[in-house]
Amino acid sequence: MPIKALPNAIILDHAECERARVRRDRRYDGRFFSGVRTTRIYCRPVCPVRPALGRNVEFYATAAAAEAAGFRPCLRCRPETAPFSPAWQGSRTTVQRAMRLIRQGALDRAGVGELAARLGVGARHLDRLFQRHVGASPLQVARTQRIQRAKLLLDGTALSMTDIAARAGFASLRRFNAVFVEVYGRSPSDIRRLRYKAV
Ligand SMILES: [Zn+2]
Repeated sequence: MPIKALPNAIILDHAECERARVRRDRRYDGRFFSGVRTTRIYCRPVCPVRPALGRNVEFYATAAAAEAAGFRPCLRCRPETAPFSPAWQGSRTTVQRAMRLIRQGALDRAGVGELAARLGVGARHLDRLFQRHVGASPLQVARTQRIQRAKLLLDGTALSMTDIAARAGFASLRRFNAVFVEVYGRSPSDIRRLRYKAV
């Protein structure tokens, strides 16, 4: 069975992901994320928490896809620290270039229309490519990027919330707080108090 949400982009299949998840296989870190339906939390394959029952697990090729499906990032294995080695890498030049530009902040300063124009494609076409190969829209990917940048700064620095919001690419401190409550179910200050060591 192919990974959910990515039927056309699949290199890894469900059984392969399941084997890697149960064995906590480091070679798969960054190549997929597993969402646990009972807890609504998603993890890296190397998560130190006892693996959930296989029947409750769904697989996603990117953190953004897991978040778009309603899963929260795990506070123990910290998906924001996973290496950038998605299963679809090499599959689509346009998607790769778009992902690189989004990682550099292209959608923090401008919209999807401008990003698509830089890549020489239409915005709707870019959206379709993303749904097919990433499992999330460009805006969802940009949001996950901001969350991950902010999370790394929360855990790894003593910067103020205002500085983190600005450095991570959030339009305002209010927006930063609202997105964290939505995604983690906790405020950034609560998250900072809960710091865990990297896996
Ligand atoms: Zn985890």
